[in-house]
Amino acid sequence: MKALGRHILVEFSGCNAEVLNDVSIIERSMVEAAQIAGATVINSTFHHFSPWGVSGVVVIQESHLAIHTWPEYRYAAVDLFTCGDSVDPWVSFEHLKKAFQANYSALEMNRGSLHVIQKSDFQPKIMREKPSFDLSKGHQIDRNVWFTDKDENQALSLRYTGDVLFDETNPFQRVRVLDSYSHGKFLAINNMVMCTERDEYHYHEMITHPVMQTHGNAKNVLVIGGGDGGTIRELFKYNVDNVTMVEIDEAVVRASKEHLPKIACEFNNPKLNLIIGDGIQFVKDAPANSYDVIIVDGSDPVGPAKGLFTAEFYNNCKNALKDGGLVITQGESPMFHEGTFVELNHCLKGIFGKQSVHTMLFHATTYPSGMWSLQVAVKGSKHPAKDFNKDQAAKFAQDKGLKYYNEDLHTAAFSLPTFVKTMLGDNA
Ligand code: SAM
Repeated sequence: MKALGRHILVEFSGCNAEVLNDVSIIERSMVEAAQIAGATVINSTFHHFSPWGVSGVVVIQESHLAIHTWPEYRYAAVDLFTCGDSVDPWVSFEHLKKAFQANYSALEMNRGSLHVIQKSDFQPKIMREKPSFDLSKGHQIDRNVWFTDKDENQALSLRYTGDVLFDETNPFQRVRVLDSYSHGKFLAINNMVMCTERDEYHYHEMITHPVMQTHGNAKNVLVIGGGDGGTIRELFKYNVDNVTMVEIDEAVVRASKEHLPKIACEFNNPKLNLIIGDGIQFVKDAPANSYDVIIVDGSDPVGPAKGLFTAEFYNNCKNALKDGGLVITQGESPMFHEGTFVELNHCLKGIFGKQSVHTMLFHATTYPSGMWSLQVAVKGSKHPAKDFNKDQAAKFAQDKGLKYYNEDLHTAAFSLPTFVKTMLGDNA
C-alpha cells in the first residue's frame, strides 16, 4: 500500500438536471455506489437546498463519499475517498456516472502517501468502543434523508429512510409516498406534505366534523380533491345518503390505497360516488341546490388546485349548495402563504357576505408554520361556532373515538388571535 487513502475528485457534467435535484435519487445512488464497491456503509446524511440542489455524504467504514449538485448547471462535484485496498472507488465512480447520465473528468490522488508520512507510536488515552453493530454481519444503515416542504423563507423538514414507496409524475403533479422516522408514512405532492400517518386526523377531523355537526343532518355531500381518502373516512361516520368525491389525479387514490390503508379505508363504501376528474369543472356543471355540504380538500394554489382559490369556483359552489348549506375549504395559513389566506377569505366574503364567512385555525404539525386554517362559508345565517348541538357533538366525538375534534374545540377553533382578525379585517 503506497498511501493511506485513494481520493478521486470527480467533475460530473451534462447530467440529468431532474436527477441532480432529487434528494432521494441522489442519496440512493450514492449509498448503492458505496455498496457496489464493497464498502460498508455506516450512515448517510442528505439534504436538498433552496431553491435547488442537493448535498450529502455517505460515511463508510473505509471513509466517505460526498456530493454537492448544481442542477441548474447540470453539474455535480463528487468526492470518492477510500482508505485501505479493500474498496475500489472507481467502481463507485462507474455507478454514479450511469446514475447521473454524466460526462466527466476525474482525478485520482493518493492521500497520506507513505513516502511522506510515517506511523507514530500514537497510543490513544481512551480506546474507542467497538461499534455496537457488527459491520461484517450487515447492519441497519442510519440514513438521514430530509424531505423539505418550503417556500423561499420558511420550511418544514421530515427525516425519512431514503426508501421511496411510491413515486409517479403525471401531467398534474408528482405523487410520492415516503417513510419518515417521526411521522410514519406520508403522502407528498410535488414538494408539499399532504398528510402523514401520525397527524393526518388533525386535518381530516377538522375539515369534516365542524360543518357536519353544524348542518346537523347532511345527506348529500360533495368532496373536491381529498384523494388520500381521509375526509371521506370521517364523512362515512355519519348516516349520509351519498358522498360524491371528485379527485383529479387517480395516482393519489392508488398510492393512498396501497401505502396509507388506515386513511384510504372507505373507497369501497357503496355510498361513495368517486369521480376522477376536475372538481372545478364538476362544480361549474353541478345542478343548483344539490348539496348540503361541500368540502374542498385541495392542495396549495399551484397546478390543478389553482382554480380552487377563485371567485368563479366559489360562486359555483354557492349555486350548487342547498339553502342552509355549508362549504369548507383548506385555507392556507396566516403564517405561511398569508396572502392567499387573506385573499381567499375576502373572496368568500364577497360571495357569501361578511357575516356568513368564518375562519378556523388548527394545529397542522406537518405543514410549514404548523398553524393552518379552514375557511367556512354558509348559504344562510347559521354561525358554525354557535349554532350546533353541543351535547350531540360531544356524544358523537366520544362514540366515534375522535382523536382531535371535540365539542369545545369546535367553538374554540373559530376564536382567532387578534393579529389574524386584523389580517382578515374581522376586528369589528
Ligand atoms: N391536506 C392537503 C392539503 O392541505 O394540502 C390536501 C390533501 S388532498 C391529497 C389534495 C388533493 O386535491 C390532491 O389529491 C389533488 O390531486 C387534488 N386536487 C387538486 N386540484 C384538484 C382539482 N382541480 N380537482 C380535483 N382534485 C384536485
